[in-house]
Amino acid sequence: MPFSKFGLYSSILRAVEAKGYAEPTPVQVETIPAVLAGRDVIASAQTGTGKTAAFALPIINRLGPHRAGGARVLVLEPTRELAQQVATAFREFAQFTDLHVDLIQGGVGYGKQRSALVDGADIVVATVGRLLELIDDHAVKLDALQVLVLDEVDRMLDMGFIDDVRAIIGRCPPKLQTLFFSATIPGKIEEVARFAVRDPIRISIGRVRTVPESVKHELYPVSGALKFPLLLALLGKTDYRSVIIFCRTKEGADGIVARIKRAGHSATVLHGDRSTGQRKASLAGFKDGTYEILVATDIAARGLDLSDVSHVINYDIPMTPDDYVHRVGRTGRAEAKGDAFTLYTPRETGAVQGIERFIRAEIPKRRLEGFDYNAAPPRPEPEEEGGVLTTAPKPQPQHQPKRQPDEGWHETTVGAWKTKKKPAAAPVPEQPRPQPRPKQKPKPKETSRGGFLAPAKSKSFGHRKGGKRR
Ligand code: AMP
Repeated sequence: MPFSKFGLYSSILRAVEAKGYAEPTPVQVETIPAVLAGRDVIASAQTGTGKTAAFALPIINRLGPHRAGGARVLVLEPTRELAQQVATAFREFAQFTDLHVDLIQGGVGYGKQRSALVDGADIVVATVGRLLELIDDHAVKLDALQVLVLDEVDRMLDMGFIDDVRAIIGRCPPKLQTLFFSATIPGKIEEVARFAVRDPIRISIGRVRTVPESVKHELYPVSGALKFPLLLALLGKTDYRSVIIFCRTKEGADGIVARIKRAGHSATVLHGDRSTGQRKASLAGFKDGTYEILVATDIAARGLDLSDVSHVINYDIPMTPDDYVHRVGRTGRAEAKGDAFTLYTPRETGAVQGIERFIRAEIPKRRLEGFDYNAAPPRPEPEEEGGVLTTAPKPQPQHQPKRQPDEGWHETTVGAWKTKKKPAAAPVPEQPRPQPRPKQKPKPKETSRGGFLAPAKSKSFGHRKGGKRR
């Protein structure tokens, strides 16, 4: 089916063509007509499915020409990188229109952002924390809003932003089209969805369990003490062009990048505690080849268009099997060959088996030739986690993710672009629109630690409880 079948304006079709999209993806096939018809939507779809265009194209179409008097579209994103990426996508899709797109994000000055919602912008893409600050300061008004997009709601919940999201929904005008996107929709997210949307169309795009055939996966079992030496040995023996090394924690990523640099590699790091400028510089430097290695946490890398890397190395086992698919999907794109190496310690065996069950494939185990698996550890140190070196043993959180049985482990396999419809969508009773809340609880600061940290009493869900923040 071609994009022209949706009845989008020619200015938008030109932009789609300029992006090189030949055919809509499944989430686009289902979402675009629903949004064009003015319906609320609850979609379970992950990054990588084409969901940004799924909501951006019909939204731009519905807006028509630029109009002064306040933003008509607000898109909420959990992280700055995603906000930047989605704002860029909106700008690209609207490049042949006169619509203005603005970005409101933490970690940068307030000046220009204060005026964004007041005048000028038709579409505002914002991170939750900064937007709420500006709303609380009466620096922004939402009266002209017509469409609200809540993107990656599961991440917002995970990062402790969900009450703030509810607060923002409460400040929006009652007559609003709301589009709700989340990779998964467990009970707590369903609750928020019911609070946010009215008479929605439900769209479900199955979890992506498949990894590109062009990716060669390998497992490297190793003791905790020799994990870093093995990483260095692997880098030394591998003919790579660009490598992403995934760690589970920010501290771990910092530790690894420092040690890799000391070993003479050109490397940079991407995680939530880095300032906006640092994160931009890291991404740009990695993309243009200044750095051959990017050390990243999952949350920081989630959703970023970081493709075309020659190697992915999982220094730490990912928190969930979905994260494994997501990490590995960064390589082997567009028929190019890619390698994905996963280092794991004996206590991570269960998590590895979980990944193998999820992708329904056994990943071959390898021993690196010439590496001394019996060598003494480089320093007398306890088992590392994510490269954090400690001098005294400390209680380690379990690596193996604690999954809830209902989190979709048993869904049927679907291809990356295949649609999986829920058999019978439970009817959602019409909800009264929430009233504005007079008082806010203290909110997470996006700026204080340069990232997107949750507040002290953050809510995490499911298997991440008690784990380290990424
Ligand atoms: P997203 O899930 O929105 O982050 O999109 C993931 C990637 O797919 C981005 O690089 C998009 O530019 C790309 N993409 C989105 N829609 C299409 C399409 N219809 N055809 C080809 N690529 C697409």
